[in-house]
Amino acid sequence: MDGSFLQKFEFYGWAASEKEATIKADKAADVIKSTISRFLPSFSFIHEVNKGKIAAFRGVSETGKGAFYSSGGFMCSGCKSFFAPDSVYQSTEPPVNEAEPEEPLTDIYTPGAHTIPLLCEQLGLDNKDTLKAMLYTIEVPDGGKELLFAMIRGDRNISIKKLSAFVESKFSGASFRRAEPDEIVGSFGEVAGFCGPVGVPGNVNMVADASLKNGKNFVVGGNRPDYHRKGCCWKRDFEPPVADLLLYEESLPCPECGGVLKETELRDLCHIECYYLNSNTQEEPVLSCRDREGLHLWPYRWKGSISLESVLLAVFEKGKIDNLK
Ligand SMILES: [Zn+2]
Repeated sequence: MDGSFLQKFEFYGWAASEKEATIKADKAADVIKSTISRFLPSFSFIHEVNKGKIAAFRGVSETGKGAFYSSGGFMCSGCKSFFAPDSVYQSTEPPVNEAEPEEPLTDIYTPGAHTIPLLCEQLGLDNKDTLKAMLYTIEVPDGGKELLFAMIRGDRNISIKKLSAFVESKFSGASFRRAEPDEIVGSFGEVAGFCGPVGVPGNVNMVADASLKNGKNFVVGGNRPDYHRKGCCWKRDFEPPVADLLLYEESLPCPECGGVLKETELRDLCHIECYYLNSNTQEEPVLSCRDREGLHLWPYRWKGSISLESVLLAVFEKGKIDNLK
């Protein structure tokens, strides 16, 4: 047994369908959880949003700042669940202003209010009633460019990792960056600081974080300098494709129980992921087969790894804490 084996234990599996791959990965995650949590009761899995992955889980336990294999995350003060800045957010919180009647969509003059704080100050609004708009340029592999209008509730921020997973799902192999002013003017017109989701030109791609879905009476950019629109309602006025784009931050409500998230340090112990191998995946080209009709088939694949060193460190750390009690 050499050192490298001691550091990491890896395992793989193949499956014919997405369903089978996720079931097998879930089973592996259950076995790992029941084993490790005997020694580390706080062990749990975080669901990750990853480029090209069907599902990915990160097994973590709580630790102190500066510990090996650790990075910043969040713990719910209520149910004690862990979250990472870019992990999956499946919220049960009600849509913004759900109980209010739909107001008419009206233009309002908001001179100089090109940021959310300035807008809220000018109109006496709560951040959540506004819409944060970000414009990105997607550079597709054939050299073409596309403009992407990404939006989220005004009191939240976009996770670049999640946005990257969305871009990859729509434009395979593309990269993206913040749009330059001349690119915005070229596709959208003179809207910098005042862009909104109503009346967006057809050549602009759109995506909204799930936090906006079914919300009512948002104040949004008016798509012309110094103007906003109020009374903007989901479905009636805008309904772009929805994705989970939310970046976890301190004091956000916990998606499991509604408790408040507090910053913590998480130690990585293991990782499990499922993904689909296809002709675009350059990795492992030998792993394909043909069916009875001779059609080329690519398998689904799942793999996992446990960092034994990290598990030992976490168990040792817990022992030290228990001895102090
Ligand atoms: Zn919670």
